[in-house]
Amino acid sequence: MIKDMSLKILAILVVFLCSSAFSSTGSYIQIPFLNTQVNKERVFEISGQVKSGQGLYQALKDVSIENALALEIINTLRDDVEFSKLKVGDQLKAEYNFQGELVRFTFSQNPAEKHLVKKSQGHWVYEFIEEPTFWESRIVNGELTEGSTLQGVLLEEGFSPETTNNIVSALMCKVNFRMHARVGDAFQALIQERKYKEEVIETRVLYTAYQGDRAGNHETFLYQDEEKGSTYNAHYTQDGQALIRSGLRYPLSRLHVRSGFGWRRHPVTGRRTMHRGVDLRGGVGKPVHAVAEGRVIQSTYNKYAGNKIAIRHRDGSISYYMHLNKRRVNKGAWVKTYQVIGTVGKTGRVTGPHLHFGFKRPNGRWMNPLSKRMIATPKLSGKRFEKLKVQIAQIKGLIQDLRISKESPYLLAKIPNIEFKEARFSWPDLSQVMGDELQRSPASVTL
Ligand SMILES: [Zn+2]
Repeated sequence: MIKDMSLKILAILVVFLCSSAFSSTGSYIQIPFLNTQVNKERVFEISGQVKSGQGLYQALKDVSIENALALEIINTLRDDVEFSKLKVGDQLKAEYNFQGELVRFTFSQNPAEKHLVKKSQGHWVYEFIEEPTFWESRIVNGELTEGSTLQGVLLEEGFSPETTNNIVSALMCKVNFRMHARVGDAFQALIQERKYKEEVIETRVLYTAYQGDRAGNHETFLYQDEEKGSTYNAHYTQDGQALIRSGLRYPLSRLHVRSGFGWRRHPVTGRRTMHRGVDLRGGVGKPVHAVAEGRVIQSTYNKYAGNKIAIRHRDGSISYYMHLNKRRVNKGAWVKTYQVIGTVGKTGRVTGPHLHFGFKRPNGRWMNPLSKRMIATPKLSGKRFEKLKVQIAQIKGLIQDLRISKESPYLLAKIPNIEFKEARFSWPDLSQVMGDELQRSPASVTL
């Protein structure tokens, strides 16, 4: 009898395991005998969304994830989600088991992508879940006439403020609108929109152009490296010139902010502390570059900063690089702009490999280094330049195709000279894209 019973259980188990193996929703399969097992996994869930003024830490509180647990979740997500890009309305879902323990957490910034954190053998593991999406291209043409602004027209056309600023800031690098814009000037932009079902979840500006009597003719092309977050992903002229010629160079070839500048929860202690720099994601061994030429004033190790290098630049500002795996320069050495000074590591008090990058103004005050104007390169060269040429050909092909299909709307931006000058495409908005240093002094470069 007992033997009979255990055979039955075994048979049901086999059926269950097989059906799980062939179904992506194994845990939802209704087998009465095993229901209690299944339900122990997930009993209830709490959903929420990021509200105005909230950081992730506060948003997590709303779905009952607090303190040390919140810190564990944030640390697990840090390398894949940039919390500095948190938006109002981003979705959170916490799932708890029958004992009230968190078993899964899902964070989502658009309906097509989910960042999942789940418990596996006592550890939190990260998983990215993506629904199929597609890219659609469209071209926007316009001409300056009297009465409104280019920015206004683009916003009216349904572009987000971010996309509008991307178009305008690319054009602005080539055209001195204040001096040279005239009624009758023409502009054009090629936009790519990533769609999930009918919803636009991401927008790229592939191309911008401007033609004016005084301003001349200009074209800019988006260059795209394969690596997500590559600092080289930007607009260039046809011959590979960056639209911003000067500024600090990025210390890494990829930009993913694990932790921003300012007040934050310390990722190790959980205490609210002032973070005097930014933490940039990077794998152990990735080269770290000097952001400008200067003298190495520190090349040391300590238990908090790990391997640390500080460089004093010509204007008296100092850049700091911490948690390095290897230091490649000694105190007293003169380093050139973009010289490799060490490699990314996880030395000192850290939760994982990253570069802590800090910046002090000549007056000794800490500042957010990302608000400095930074560029990947003044001019693309080598393989990247070859790739740009291929991408330019593709962009031009796409523009031809779209012109033939005649789906492109022709817009008229009503911009009289004088109002155009006043509007100046709103500097504060642009600062989000280009940094506050630019906002203060568009023409000057500090280093
Ligand atoms: Zn840091």
